[in-house]
Amino acid sequence: MNNEQWEAIIQNDKNYDDLFFYAVKSTGIFCRPSCKSRPPKKENVQIYAAAKEAMQEGFRPCKRCKPGGLRLPDEEWVTQIKEYIDDHYNESITLHTLADLCHGSPYHLQRTFKKVLGISPVEYMQKIRISKAKEYLITTNKSLVEIGAAIGMSNIPYFITLFKKVTGITPIQYRKKENISNE
Ligand SMILES: [Zn+2]
Repeated sequence: MNNEQWEAIIQNDKNYDDLFFYAVKSTGIFCRPSCKSRPPKKENVQIYAAAKEAMQEGFRPCKRCKPGGLRLPDEEWVTQIKEYIDDHYNESITLHTLADLCHGSPYHLQRTFKKVLGISPVEYMQKIRISKAKEYLITTNKSLVEIGAAIGMSNIPYFITLFKKVTGITPIQYRKKENISNE
């Protein structure tokens, strides 16, 4: 990538559209230079002359700027969002972070995710967190604070409330119950 291309990317310069495309290694997405998505880290950027080449390298077209007129199917977009949650559930993720990383508006992301999977991204993330918490409660002696941190819920009262809402009992009751039934 030369300086001119990098400038075009950070300025969202329309004049460079279709002259080249840029892919971002950390997200697996490629865009037109004019895309309004969050500026990537320079070292993660890969330049392609044609959208087809970026596709061949395994990058997915951005949902927002549709590079080369390519439209990412909703199912694939949702897979991309889901994979991100699967890998990062232990970090603080908001709908806005997700939308930013997966290149779409929060509203659109929420609607599409729900349409494809039947639950919202936040509900999906909570499901993963609670199932990880259950695993930790049964297989380790970690404290609630440690478990909360490991599943991205360092707000312990909130962790307990959510756990109880989903399972009907508190994390500690769950641990006791499971330990007894395993004896
Ligand atoms: Zn884009």
